[in-house]
Amino acid sequence: MLKKSLITPLIFIWCALTLASDFKIFFLNVGEGEAIYIETPNTQKVLIDSGNLISGYKVVNFLKRKGIKEIDFLIITHPHLDHMGGIFHVLQHIKVKRCYDNGQPLPKNNDIYRWYNDLFRKDNYKPLKAGEKIILGNVIINVLSPEKFTSDWNANSLVLKINYGETSFLLMGDANIKVEKMLLEKNINLKADVLKVGHHGAKDASSERFIEAVSPQYAVISIDENNIRGYPAVSVIKRFQNKGIKLFFTYRDGDIIFKSNSKNIFIYSFESPKKLIDQQHYPLHLKLYHTMQRIY
Ligand SMILES: [Zn+2]
Repeated sequence: MLKKSLITPLIFIWCALTLASDFKIFFLNVGEGEAIYIETPNTQKVLIDSGNLISGYKVVNFLKRKGIKEIDFLIITHPHLDHMGGIFHVLQHIKVKRCYDNGQPLPKNNDIYRWYNDLFRKDNYKPLKAGEKIILGNVIINVLSPEKFTSDWNANSLVLKINYGETSFLLMGDANIKVEKMLLEKNINLKADVLKVGHHGAKDASSERFIEAVSPQYAVISIDENNIRGYPAVSVIKRFQNKGIKLFFTYRDGDIIFKSNSKNIFIYSFESPKKLIDQQHYPLHLKLYHTMQRIY
């Protein structure tokens, strides 16, 4: 039997190893829009999109509750207001080391975009393009799209594939079927354990062929309740359900958290998201929603 004096250091080492090896991705409930927060095993912090003009404060509150005053990277997939609107809260409360977006040319005669340009695209800013990588220790963020701009801002979204060990996450931004077709034609390895569904589950994204190529076990749709544009489309939901892919919705499940130890993914969600979302004791109220064991 181990002596008590030996057990304490062993527990300490076990805890340190557990903490040091986890990658976490939080799909935040920001109403109409999107915000995804990432923590790497080497404690780097990345925010991908920032919620909308109204809900950006939720992202700030979330980061403050976690004691975060500074993040390493803020990535905006495309400068539509439901993705970038929250920067007007975030950048005035949280220090950001580097800012990235897709480099979308902005209209000059629009106040919001002028302010976006002034606040976001400064000395620490760089646009990202297909083929680039952000390396965060053992976590790699691969930029799959865009290669070039079209007149469709959604199709210009940054598409990001995150790899950590044997686990992977594909984040589609608001990319639609045109982008899916291009990615399929380029023969890129799209296979991922978790898919952040493109364009909030609208019917112009998530084609049958694309879902088959990604073949995720889990998919997340970032969406508000009673969406004004009728997202997500019932046909899209059915496409996922028919393939046995478990769907999460931010409006229903609240913040959805996937934790990877490089081999397995653990999923957490709120029990009663509407009651808990603004409580101070986050993340104590998390429950283990489901544990995914890799089956391939
Ligand atoms: Zn959007």
